Amino acid sequence: MTVNPFESYLKRLDQASEKLKLSKEARSKLATPDRILEKDIDLMRDDGTKETLHAYRVQFNNARGPYKGGIRFHPAADLDEVKALAAAMAIKCAVVDIPMGGGKGGVQFDPKQYSDAEIERVARGFVRAFVHDLGSDKDIPAPDVYTNGTIMGYMLDEYEKITGKKEPGMITGKPVPLGGIVGRDTATAQGGVYALEYFVDSQGMEMNQLRVAIQGFGNAGATMAHLLYEAGCNIVGVSDSSGALLSETGLKPDKLLKTKEEKKVLEAPNAQKATNAELLEADCDVLVPAALDGQITRENAANIKAKIILELANGPTTPDADKILAERGVTVIPDVLANAGGVTVSYFEWMQNQEGSMWTEDQVSTELQKTMRRAAKAVDEKSKKAHVPLRDAAFLLGVERLAAATSMRNSAV
Ligand code: GLU
Repeated sequence: MTVNPFESYLKRLDQASEKLKLSKEARSKLATPDRILEKDIDLMRDDGTKETLHAYRVQFNNARGPYKGGIRFHPAADLDEVKALAAAMAIKCAVVDIPMGGGKGGVQFDPKQYSDAEIERVARGFVRAFVHDLGSDKDIPAPDVYTNGTIMGYMLDEYEKITGKKEPGMITGKPVPLGGIVGRDTATAQGGVYALEYFVDSQGMEMNQLRVAIQGFGNAGATMAHLLYEAGCNIVGVSDSSGALLSETGLKPDKLLKTKEEKKVLEAPNAQKATNAELLEADCDVLVPAALDGQITRENAANIKAKIILELANGPTTPDADKILAERGVTVIPDVLANAGGVTVSYFEWMQNQEGSMWTEDQVSTELQKTMRRAAKAVDEKSKKAHVPLRDAAFLLGVERLAAATSMRNSAV
């Protein structure tokens, strides 16, 4: 049975509302997106034929700041998914306590079947469709699944051509020469490392003793492998859509990346080939799901051997699996905390654009570390105080902050 992601959000919201004793009105505000925008993008294929793609932008909540969140290009990006991810962005920004709201966008298609020139036209088409709804003080997109800095660059260029003004803060994750920030590419993984360090520390473990398995070897997963290797961890497994590799003696991420670029598959001399399912159940201390949602389910949760799961992807664990993991005492560092480094550095990028400055690499990593440690501590303390797992604690913290701001903006008329 597939779980409707927005239904799962509403279920979690109900539990949090009850615990926080939110009024019916306050709960209803957080259950309803401010605006759902839907448009068709007419794409001219390279061969001259025309095709219509469906695009969404969900502006969930802006009580704490402008709508903020990525745009994904993916065949599964339907309205329920985009709505759920937009809500998660509002919670995420509140958990790391940055003054941004929540939004998300999606174009429902498989970019792997399209040329670079076609993808550029989709990106520009997205901006033409929603140009009046975006802006540095309104709604600020960023990269997400299968979008990247280059695509953000096209979007900024299209926006500035239409509006006739310079406004680099209307989008984040763009290339550095266009006003992007150093370190945004590695921010999601780097933030995940800072969050992991906090919990490894608080459980009396050492980073350089950890055996780690990582699902997904895209931008976030590969950067994570590299950073954890540098921190002294033993990378005992990695995977991508072509399959997985397991190695007790450990994998070298830089070498893997090089082979992957050359041969398009993961390969290493000291490793055995395995399936993605086997990777999730690998013998390790830390499991990092860094691919898509719905990977850890009630079918495999009981077989997972990791003591800590660090959710670098959005929504990799289903609610059923969560229960099983909690009963087994597995620490799940939830997505809204674990991958919040991305949007945190997006916020720094937006700040640098608003003030017309350029942050240094040191500034970015110092501020990111501070933000992630503060958020991890707040979630940990909430979890201990409320006797709930970290995900529920993060959700409680996010909903509490969001509800406080939302209530100040709504007076009855
Ligand atoms: N797509 C990323 C996320 O899900 C980053 C969003 C952003 O930087 O606005 O958190």
